[in-house]
Amino acid sequence: AGSIIGIPRAPPDRILGLTEQYKTDPNPQKTNLTVGIYKDNFGEVKTFPSVAKAQAILDEHIELNIDLSYLPINGCPAFQENVLKFLYRESCPAGGELLDKELVSFVQTLSGTGALAVTSKFLSSFISRSVWIPNPSWANHSNVFWNNGFKEINCYTYYRDGELDVDGWLLDLERKSGAGRTDAPQCIVLHACCHNPTGVDPTPEQWVRIMDKVHELQLIPIIDMAYQGLDTGDLFQDAHLLRLCLDSNRYRWNNGLFLCQSFAKNMGLYGERVGSLSVVTPHSVDVKRNIDSQLKKIVRGMYSSPPGYGSRIANLVLSSSHLKELWVEDVKNMAGRLQSVKSRLAAQLEWASLRDPSRQHGMFLYTGLNRSCVDILREKYSIYLLQDGRLSLSGLNDSNIDYVCEALRNVSH
Ligand code: PLP
Repeated sequence: AGSIIGIPRAPPDRILGLTEQYKTDPNPQKTNLTVGIYKDNFGEVKTFPSVAKAQAILDEHIELNIDLSYLPINGCPAFQENVLKFLYRESCPAGGELLDKELVSFVQTLSGTGALAVTSKFLSSFISRSVWIPNPSWANHSNVFWNNGFKEINCYTYYRDGELDVDGWLLDLERKSGAGRTDAPQCIVLHACCHNPTGVDPTPEQWVRIMDKVHELQLIPIIDMAYQGLDTGDLFQDAHLLRLCLDSNRYRWNNGLFLCQSFAKNMGLYGERVGSLSVVTPHSVDVKRNIDSQLKKIVRGMYSSPPGYGSRIANLVLSSSHLKELWVEDVKNMAGRLQSVKSRLAAQLEWASLRDPSRQHGMFLYTGLNRSCVDILREKYSIYLLQDGRLSLSGLNDSNIDYVCEALRNVSH
């Protein structure tokens, strides 16, 4: 039995806590490089033109008082159809056959985090309570898995001296998992691209080595695809890992493949909480329907049904060829700006003691700065980075990049 009086204080969220501190900082040159929200070259969070157009269409309908009712438990049926088409036909053409054979379960989720929450609740209820996550990883991964019934979280080596450490990764998996070494199946979280926080991704060849081992050890893949499009600017290209995993000549995922996908970053729909979980099984329509039914039961008990507005926006963007073309362009522009910020940083700084930005993927730069340098940046220059040295590139623009480079130079020498 517990008591409300004895509840210990939980530590504040590492990322959001820093933003609170930033808000009260009086320095006019203060710069927030903590959160993963895309800002334009004027430091503003702007709605993408494609999304703004979809919103305008939708708002017109809402004025006419159309459909603010509940969505079904697993989300808007049109959203389901269009997201599945986007993920399993357009991003991964081999997936079309899986859709035709009705082998893909689907739920519209509260963005990527919601997809991970439903995944972990489902897996811990039926298949596995043990998961591998990379070291380092997005801080919320372990939080979500602990919160949803997992009993064991193992970290696999990912990163050493600014580089991916594939040998270390595979060795870790081999030592502690695989048939014969554990009783129950184990899961593994894989960042599809733009690894958070390191920005270091496996090459296609390295992914083959990794997935061959994951398959050999019969681990259950959980693909976390929060940044599709933000690496190369090309939505198709960035779904590389999904295409590899669904190559049926190579792999068969007997305990399912879980894809947790988010439109937060690539449509800028952060607060609307739009994403999906899809589960691919190689078995039968019957198995798929059983999974569907259990996913619905989990969602019903967690939050009953997802919100409608954001998914209607995403659905419009995905289903109108005109808006889709605009969106593809928006994603390309966003990735292009992030790339040009990286090039400017690379040109302006002596990277001998910091990590070279031009080799990192996505929204973040993992600087390699230690905690005391990060503290100096914050206390002396009012430049806010995460304590592990992760810097969000989208917070840099023409008006602050020189100031930030100067400060980085000062603290890293
Ligand atoms: N996974 C990773 C690696 C992330 O970095 C994020 C967001 O920062 C997410 C998942 C989930 O984000 P959201 O719930 O906003 O879609």
